[in-house]
Amino acid sequence: MEISFAGKRALVTGAGKGIGRATALALARCGAKVTAVTRTQADLSSLVQECPSITPVCVDLADWGATEASLKDIGPIDLLVNNAACANLQPFLEVTPDQFDQSFNVNVKAVLHVSQIVAGGMKARGSGGSVVNVSSQASQCALRDHTVYCATKAALDMLTKVMALELGPHQIRVNSVNPTVVMTEMGRIGWSDPEKAKGMKSRIPLGRFAEVEDVVNSILFLLSDKSNMTNGVSLPVDGGFLSC
Ligand code: NDP
Repeated sequence: MEISFAGKRALVTGAGKGIGRATALALARCGAKVTAVTRTQADLSSLVQECPSITPVCVDLADWGATEASLKDIGPIDLLVNNAACANLQPFLEVTPDQFDQSFNVNVKAVLHVSQIVAGGMKARGSGGSVVNVSSQASQCALRDHTVYCATKAALDMLTKVMALELGPHQIRVNSVNPTVVMTEMGRIGWSDPEKAKGMKSRIPLGRFAEVEDVVNSILFLLSDKSNMTNGVSLPVDGGFLSC
């Protein structure tokens, strides 16, 4: 299946590393003009070195005012990938207010904010568009030490549905991908311990973690017109974990 984003403008958050970086590069390869948003300048510099057509934006998405200022002149966007997130793991009884606020600020509130900015422009132009929120299997299945992360991703799945409901009439589709573990920097935080990894893999019918490219391919599908009638879904990229 050939996917082309020629003539489209895309914005990817958390594009410095992992899934977001690979998504930004894949979109550029498929012809999109990509704006990459993340908070570490060194990651943006190496990304632009790798793909000079990418426009970098350096901002901490947890900061509402700074995000507003950084994105106000980005121009029209057709495709949005809300990918940036943090994973602070603690046992339930040890969760602190700061960790809670930081996670919800990035994983949920920033998605709302960036989407308001981008979808507001799509609505004003009447151009339609497609938004993909990067959620997790953790939105639908309790994982030990993942209280706040699970809660943010569950909130994100519902945010996805309400956005799909309200933005659909403007021909803006909103969906999420819900991956199992991917061994990025974030994945390594929770799953480097071989015993833990073995326990998780034993619950995945395909018996393995996802690769970055597995997630990127699902994101590209949901962004593209190959999924034109798909709106408001959470697409597992989990080898069957959530089905069993
Ligand atoms: P990584 O940690 O590898 O990359 C996350 C990227 O987001 C980094 O570039 C990071 O920048 C950026 N980011 C984080 N916080 C902010 C912020 N406040 N402002 C701007 N940028 C920020 O994570 P993954 O690629 O693994 O994760 C991508 C998405 O996939 C996330 O939504 C995650 O929840 C989801 N996911 C990941 C899974 C996994 O096992 N890896 C499984 C299921 C879902 P910096 O490094 O500078 O902080």
